Amino acid sequence: MKIKNLPDEFEKARPVMQTIEEAGYEAYFVGGSVRDTLIGENIHDVDIASSAYPEEIKRLFKRTVDTGIEHGTVMVLDNKKGYEITTFRTESGYQDYRRPDKVTFVRSLKEDLKRRDFTINALAMRENGEVTDLFGGIKDIERKIIRAVGDPNERFNEDALRMMRAVRFASKLDFNIESDTFNAIKRHSSLLEKIAIERIYVEFIKMMKGLRPKQGIDDMLSTDMYLHVPFFDNYRKQLSDISHLKNLNLNNEVEVWSLICFEFNFGKEQISNLLKAWKASNDIIKSTQICCRALNSIKNDEMSEFLMYQTGKHLLIEANYIASFYGFSIDNELLKDKYNCLPIKNKKQLSINGGILIKNGIIKPGPMLGKVLDEIEKQVIIGNIDNDTDDIINFTKQYLKE
Ligand code: ATP
Ligand code: MG
Repeated sequence: MKIKNLPDEFEKARPVMQTIEEAGYEAYFVGGSVRDTLIGENIHDVDIASSAYPEEIKRLFKRTVDTGIEHGTVMVLDNKKGYEITTFRTESGYQDYRRPDKVTFVRSLKEDLKRRDFTINALAMRENGEVTDLFGGIKDIERKIIRAVGDPNERFNEDALRMMRAVRFASKLDFNIESDTFNAIKRHSSLLEKIAIERIYVEFIKMMKGLRPKQGIDDMLSTDMYLHVPFFDNYRKQLSDISHLKNLNLNNEVEVWSLICFEFNFGKEQISNLLKAWKASNDIIKSTQICCRALNSIKNDEMSEFLMYQTGKHLLIEANYIASFYGFSIDNELLKDKYNCLPIKNKKQLSINGGILIKNGIIKPGPMLGKVLDEIEKQVIIGNIDNDTDDIINFTKQYLKE
């Protein structure tokens, strides 16, 4: 098969490919970019595989960077762009069902494609658009099937993350997992516990951001994979309830975790425990806690000015977006208007600060100052006092008297 009218990303990389070929080596586009082109999806970056060894690649180009030389990857800088070129390789010695501990450079494209996870990811394309398809990847794209290259049982024993990747690609592309591959996942689901949670996290988020996250969750349930990731084992019902939401369409990690924590009915502490177990960043944990609190207030019709202020515009809109899948969201424009009407958006906008209060002799430095400022902030936001220096000073005097 030959693809005509290659997307621009490939066209731009052609000179690099041609340099490698003219030196007598093979060069192919591989992996996601070839798959997505055949599917008709936009591509982001192109990966190149070559029979040339890293040292040989480095000799061919003026400007290169050793981005992953131990795995055979060199970046070639050409025309202000970087192209990752990886030497054909085989992998061996999968101890602990994880990454291989040995990679061997080889000259054969076939050997390189054989180690790849799924048929749709084991396609290679020359710079002229000619596709090499040794495992029926094109047919599987046509039939929308995720199928392991070779014996799925072996492949998941080599690297158990591939099970999560199967579910991720099925959701991302709206494909189905072929039955032998599916049954092998079911048989080996517990191997997922051997995999670093950071790697599972990446695939899980990509799955949830895919075209069919509900299918992804269903696949995790029906293969029992959910039993082998942190916290999910006790929440089968809640996870399966996510399948009933209409038109679920998630854009980022905070939306994903807010939806899950909302379904699990988690409070602040539980959200922190779950996300720490998943090794989420502190930023994500904090944003999810704030978003979930706002989501619950929207649900209970308790959204106040002060909570809007504490939540912030961005997370307020995120919370309302999640609420829309449950059918209890507030009109977005109304919500934005209400937010925009808040007298201040952050503490710095208060017309006084600690320094001014001290200079005017209203309060002495000390622990009381923070408390007073918190109270002023609150009273301004709920509209009890204006954000005006004199008003605030009067209020503070009164407050301190009481
Ligand atoms: P995406 O568009 O999401 O990046 P991708 O197919 O490029 O999809 P990557 O994770 O970037 O996915 O991997 C690039 C390629 O490397 C895959 O297409 C596949 O051929 C191979 N690959 C990646 N991870 C594995 C794995 N765990 N086992 C076998 N092959 C893998
Ligand atoms: Mg990729």
